[in-house]
Amino acid sequence: MSSWKDNIRKVTPYTPGEQPKISDVIKLNTNECPYPPSPLVTEMIEKMDTERFRLYPDPEASLLVNELAEYYNVKPEQVFVGVGSDDVLGMAFLTCFNSEKPILFPDITYSFYDVWAELFKIPYKTVALDEQFKINPLDFNKENGGIIFPNPNAPTAIEMPLEQVEEVIKNNPDVVVIVDEAYVDFGGHTALSLIDKYDNLLVVRTFSKSRAMAGMRIGYAFGSKELIDAIKAVKFSYNSYTMNQATIETGVAAIKDDTYFKNTVSKIIETRENAKKELKKLGFSFTDSKTNFIFATHERMPAKEIFEKLKKKNIFVRYFNKPGIDNYLRITIGTDEEMKKLYKALQVILQK
Ligand code: PMP
Repeated sequence: MSSWKDNIRKVTPYTPGEQPKISDVIKLNTNECPYPPSPLVTEMIEKMDTERFRLYPDPEASLLVNELAEYYNVKPEQVFVGVGSDDVLGMAFLTCFNSEKPILFPDITYSFYDVWAELFKIPYKTVALDEQFKINPLDFNKENGGIIFPNPNAPTAIEMPLEQVEEVIKNNPDVVVIVDEAYVDFGGHTALSLIDKYDNLLVVRTFSKSRAMAGMRIGYAFGSKELIDAIKAVKFSYNSYTMNQATIETGVAAIKDDTYFKNTVSKIIETRENAKKELKKLGFSFTDSKTNFIFATHERMPAKEIFEKLKKKNIFVRYFNKPGIDNYLRITIGTDEEMKKLYKALQVILQK
């Protein structure tokens, strides 16, 4: 019997949404942006000095850090960057959640949180959402080793008002509170302004949704210098060169094109608001989404059945076979044309 297997770390990995290998699909299942990144990103790739690729990149990714600091009006020492917000969040879990006490997060939320907790052997407890899928901020008023929640939450798409976010931070001064703002650009209110007031707050963001760059893998975080320094120390104890040179430079280009960014976001918001009307006509109900997706349930047909029937028509949405949300679909907002095809397909499916 080989005993080395007893020493292997046993984990159940996170399951990302399907990336279909076939072409001609309508992909509304992983909350990607339906539009391309800014033309400045393409330009940057085209004129990139590849000779420099023989050198290691700047481990601090200062070009990107400085660009983000300037754009968001914070100090560079208050910014951390990584390979997608998953990398940033993973590093933050490893750095900030080192107590024997359990960390807290909502029971219905981003399903990577419990995976990191298991991986890093961090004890955790979940707090239940109310019947309307809302987070009750008072539920975090108990002994804990740290707190994390997305705002807006995923997959519920609901935003917690900023005053309530502040209440959670204020009531938990002895632990780190991480607010995962992956979707904040689509109509949410950021907690960024609170980082100067609360040195235990970390605000995490991504280029994957509103900046249309999921494939480049860029995430970032804002916090007090002490908190950012602590995360950097852990990152530099693990892998100095996480962000590659090409990614750093295209990230800077994306930030520089603010007009394009704002246009993209407002197009998606407009399509989302229209989707609410169309889906309602088709018999769906949903939460008030402040994200680039809609979390919807149908009055008659089970979500799983709709999911499977859409898939047969090459329209991919996300279905979670989990208690409490197993009759819901998470539908990413696509282009107007994609959404029209979705409504047409749903009409046919729901008539039968
Ligand atoms: N946080 C939340 C709430 C998400 O939904 C996602 C997307 N899966 C992420 C973080 C990670 O996104 P990325 O690693 O692409 O930045």
